[in-house]
Amino acid sequence: MKDRIEVVENIMGANDRLAADNRAKLDKHHIFSINLMASPGAGKTSLIENTVPALKDKFRIAAVDGDIATSIDADRAAAVGAAAVQINTGGECHLDAVMLRQALNQIDLPQTDLLVVENVGNLICPASFALGTHKSVLVASIPEGDDKPYKYPGIYRGVDVLIINKIDLLPYIPFRMEYFRQGVEMLNPGLKTFPLSCKTGEGVQEWLEWLELQVTAFKETSK
Ligand code: MG
Ligand code: ZN
Repeated sequence: MKDRIEVVENIMGANDRLAADNRAKLDKHHIFSINLMASPGAGKTSLIENTVPALKDKFRIAAVDGDIATSIDADRAAAVGAAAVQINTGGECHLDAVMLRQALNQIDLPQTDLLVVENVGNLICPASFALGTHKSVLVASIPEGDDKPYKYPGIYRGVDVLIINKIDLLPYIPFRMEYFRQGVEMLNPGLKTFPLSCKTGEGVQEWLEWLELQVTAFKETSK
């Protein structure tokens, strides 16, 4: 049993070192980066589709899309104007720092201001693998139910921003917003939260303003 624990610690240590390398590379090129995490179908790609067209005249945007198979998400990101790279994880249920390093090699870094990494849809292990990105963003959604912070505390505890997507479905689904937000507050007090709908566009502007501010401020401080 002790051996197994040591192996796990070594893997995580190696991942953290590579994540630090990724971060250094992003910093060197003044690229602000986010790690988008969520369960499958919460709306990570839809959020990218709502974000890229709104900001692409201001920033040069690259997207890295992690999936077990297919390039559907990278194709969607490319269709709205991002320089998109697909990572097929070959069955792995999360991205790790090695995979992001390989993706960064395929991106024109000097020509990039904002990097959006779409992690594999999964609420468990993506939270454990640092990639080197600057901020972690969790996309929750109304149909998933209001108990998710209680059931997946690890991911809720570790993120910098929470998006609550599909608020247009609130009239049709029993989702106790108060109960959900209490669970979040318990794990991650004061977490920056954007309730929105990628479908109707409600609330998206607030998210865009936050992100624009981050990219601009990062460019200033990293000069
Ligand atoms: Mg997706
Ligand atoms: Zn995994």
